[in-house]
Amino acid sequence: MNPQTYDIEVEVLVVGAGATGLCAGLAARDGGAEVLVLERDETPRGSTSMSQGYVCAAGSKLQAAQGIEDGADQFLRDIMARSKGEADPIIARAMADHSGATIDWLVERHDIPFRLNISWAGFFGHSVNRMHGVPSRTGEELHGALIRALAAAGGDLVTGAHVTEVFAGADGQVNGVKMRRADGSEETIGCKALVLATSGFGANHDMVRKHIPDFGQAPYYRYFGHEGNEGEGIEWGMALGAATGCMDAFQGYGALADAYGIIVNYEVVMHGGITVNAEGQRFSNENKDISAQSLNILRQPEGFGWIVFDDARRALVEHLPEFADLARLGAVRSAPDAAALAEAIRVPADALAETLEDSRRMVRGEIPCPFGRDFTASAPLATGPLHAIRTTGALFHTQGGLMVDGGAQVLRPNGSRLPNLFAGGGAACSISGTGCDGYLPAAGLAMAVVLGRLAGESAAKLIKN
Ligand SMILES: Cc1cc2nc3c(=O)[nH]c(=O)nc-3n(C[C@H](O)[C@H](O)[C@H](O)COP(=O)(O)OP(=O)(O)OC[C@H]3O[C@@H](n4cnc5c(N)ncnc54)[C@H](O)[C@@H]3O)c2cc1C
Repeated sequence: MNPQTYDIEVEVLVVGAGATGLCAGLAARDGGAEVLVLERDETPRGSTSMSQGYVCAAGSKLQAAQGIEDGADQFLRDIMARSKGEADPIIARAMADHSGATIDWLVERHDIPFRLNISWAGFFGHSVNRMHGVPSRTGEELHGALIRALAAAGGDLVTGAHVTEVFAGADGQVNGVKMRRADGSEETIGCKALVLATSGFGANHDMVRKHIPDFGQAPYYRYFGHEGNEGEGIEWGMALGAATGCMDAFQGYGALADAYGIIVNYEVVMHGGITVNAEGQRFSNENKDISAQSLNILRQPEGFGWIVFDDARRALVEHLPEFADLARLGAVRSAPDAAALAEAIRVPADALAETLEDSRRMVRGEIPCPFGRDFTASAPLATGPLHAIRTTGALFHTQGGLMVDGGAQVLRPNGSRLPNLFAGGGAACSISGTGCDGYLPAAGLAMAVVLGRLAGESAAKLIKN
């Protein structure tokens, strides 16, 4: 039941302090609104801190400075091609139109230190390099910079504040929320507009089993996103009559060093490394789709694979924090040649030697790859030294969620808007279409910063009008 009065009242209330909630807060402040962001964790982390902090965006000033020609229409074409035409056209258009300007806004107005520091042009569906990252290439750095920016902009952030209920009238007008503090006490907060920035539902195994059965029911199921992504915001939106879309879509990752909980930098594979199973055999086109590769690995005996690479590929990632951690922890097995490596990782030596030799013949164009991978752009793997890291496939982030309009306002199934409810990032329907293979790399954070910004802007406009 709606409370008669609230303990406190704010204009724009944001639930969740990941990239979505923080960008919504920044944009609402820029629009002149009073903002409060509530975060259930004592220290905000979210999937944002766990990520590598890459954001894909088209038409930014950083791209222009490097002479990269890109723009909304080209990005939209890439989104539609990657999602096989299934991405919602309104959300895809909003993402394509506003992504470059959102990066410029974050850099110029809020001091977020984006660079164009990774080249993924031509991989996994991006036709040009539009990967924006912070200097350390960590989500932690990006997240920290956004938290500081919100404080500098005069937005309030309260942590240890788990929102448990949303109050609304019969017309769907949200009036406020209830939140629970770590000591079990409860408070109510009234608002004029509510932004749901609670992310997806990867940590809610029941929802995953229901909507993504391929993953949720896999014997070696792994979730590797933030445990706060329990789908609460999506469920509140649905209870208020919102439409959802693409609930079976997800971003998987086909290279998680699971025993260590550390991702393997995929550059080692993209530039010539291979993945073999416990039999020492390749089983997929490793470069077709990094998200779908997660399921390919989970379907192997015991649900794991070994990424095998040489010194040249190792040099590409040696300086990156994840790889440095993997090396320090002993996850990178090294050997002078294929026979010694096979012994170190306990796969049949003959099979591994044959698989490696076949990959070299594919590079030279002597035989085709049975899985359709084009090896011809990379140099053959050396005969030694060789390295291997044991990996599995994991669910990083669900992609289905609440349907929103071009201003991130939540929609009902008939297309009408809920009066004052907004959503972005993982809580909203993404641009991946359905299933596991429509994810464009770095679209997760793009959905967070772009829709977060649009949600904050729209919420401020609504209350100012
Ligand atoms: C290992 C990993 C690497 C990734 N790398 C990338 C990458 O490089 N590029 C990319 O684009 N994407 C990447 N992703 C995906 C990306 O991290 C997410 O798409 C993005 O962070 C989503 O942002 P968000 O703000 O919607 O969610 P989050 O960052 O998860 O924030 C949601 C917040 O809401 C809080 N919350 C939830 N429910 C409540 C509640 N009831 N009350 C109060 N607070 C609540 C949570 O605690 C959380 O802090 C990666 C994901 C993972 C797991």
